Amino acid sequence: MSSSHDIGQTKSRTAPLEMTEEQFRSLGHDLVDRIASFLGSLRGRAVTPAESADKVRATLDAARTLPEQGEKANVLLENTAGLLFEHSLLNGHPGFYGYITSSAAPIGMLAELLAAAVNANVGAWKLSPMATEIEAQTIRWIAQFIGYPADCGGLLLSGGNMANLTCFLAARAAKASWDVRKQGVASGPRMLAYASTETHTWLQKAADLTGLGTEAIRWIGVDKRQRMDLDALQAQYKRDLEEGYWPFLVVGTAGTVSTGAVDPLPDLAAFCQERNLWFHVDGAYGAFAAGIKEAPPDLMGLTAADSLAVDPHKWLYAPLEAGCALVRDPAALRNAFSYHPPYYSFDAEATNYYDLGPQNSRGFRALKIWLALQQAGAGAYREMIGEDVSLARHLYDLAVEHPELEAFTHNLSITTLRYVPAELGASVGSEQTEASLNRLNQLLLTHLENSGEAFCSNALIEGKVALRFCIVNFRTSTADIEAVPPLVARLGRQAHAELNCQ
Ligand SMILES: *Cc1c(COP(=O)(O)O)cnc(C)c1O
Repeated sequence: MSSSHDIGQTKSRTAPLEMTEEQFRSLGHDLVDRIASFLGSLRGRAVTPAESADKVRATLDAARTLPEQGEKANVLLENTAGLLFEHSLLNGHPGFYGYITSSAAPIGMLAELLAAAVNANVGAWKLSPMATEIEAQTIRWIAQFIGYPADCGGLLLSGGNMANLTCFLAARAAKASWDVRKQGVASGPRMLAYASTETHTWLQKAADLTGLGTEAIRWIGVDKRQRMDLDALQAQYKRDLEEGYWPFLVVGTAGTVSTGAVDPLPDLAAFCQERNLWFHVDGAYGAFAAGIKEAPPDLMGLTAADSLAVDPHKWLYAPLEAGCALVRDPAALRNAFSYHPPYYSFDAEATNYYDLGPQNSRGFRALKIWLALQQAGAGAYREMIGEDVSLARHLYDLAVEHPELEAFTHNLSITTLRYVPAELGASVGSEQTEASLNRLNQLLLTHLENSGEAFCSNALIEGKVALRFCIVNFRTSTADIEAVPPLVARLGRQAHAELNCQ
């Protein structure tokens, strides 16, 4: 078979995906110009267009089949920038306070472009010499920033879930008395993990994925401040030992997902040390606050953890995705993931990240973190994190003063509150009023989203629907925060009127 595409006929090749240097330069400049204008226009845009899925699919022409013929890159990039700029939730907007998702540092955007240009495979040192060393340095810097031993082991993963799972696997391999990697969890007594009821759902996934099953999680109750109840932990542990279970892990959270509460980490560390249990801290959100002087004292307990998960795509403002697993004993990751016995090490000098985690081929996630850390420096990072905490505190204080708002919690940079119409103020706590307030605040949340002026998520606090403002946003200013209470009150009144008319 011979055709004009026969590569034998020509010595040179220009594939349809190739770009000349000039084309790349021109397309790149054009795209960067568009992105710069987008970033410059953020404040003036709606935080979210709040469109229906049908509307978004129609805009995309979702049912269209893959075209047989190619399209010009400039047309594609222009159209696609429009699709994304106009139909996305903008978490870089100063009024974005939803979930624990941060605004992304612009230098991280440029880093992603640069990383893709080199396309290093950070699975093995040989495939990514400089990128591997940059990741190793990034890991050390992250550890130093939060006060964790800088000679720890660690690697970057896609996010908090994967970082926590990686640490969970390190704990499982370290604390089983049998070869659990080879023989499986069924070959020993039933392994158990302990965590508070406020723990993020990564734990169920980890228990499931590692074959322990979610019934291997002992959910420990919390106190009034949403922190793990130590007495309950002790009692449960004692019962489990007597019944022949194999407790191996206690998970403490440094900044819970709903209210930012910090478990009594020093007490948990001591508890684990006395019983030879693995102490893991989920610091996906809160660990970075350990570096600031306003940090809650218990937060420093994370330095005693056997492993720690942190999320650079949260408080280090890295663009998604970037999670990080740190382990005190650098050998623990190799013992959990490597399939080379220690005596079979090819090159003991080099770090081969495929040996230290679940991934084989790996992208260069470190670059965006590494550059942002240096652009700001540790001092300015501490300041930015401290400012987010102060802004959340300010919002809490404003809610306390506001006659129509009820402030619930403030921890780290998360503040929870709700709208309470004046006429219901006196009956707060009664079953009927609480049910109405839940409906009202749920509707208010939708109105807030549709307003495009601010975006927050919700939390359920002792059965009460709360608006949850999570400030992990270096663009949010005091003026933005001071605009929140009047906005919530205005939309609250509107929601209240609507519900009363029904
Ligand atoms: C965000 C978060 C997670 C999950 O992290 P992802 O990056 O979303 O996978 C886990 N635990 C806590 C406490 C978190 O805040």
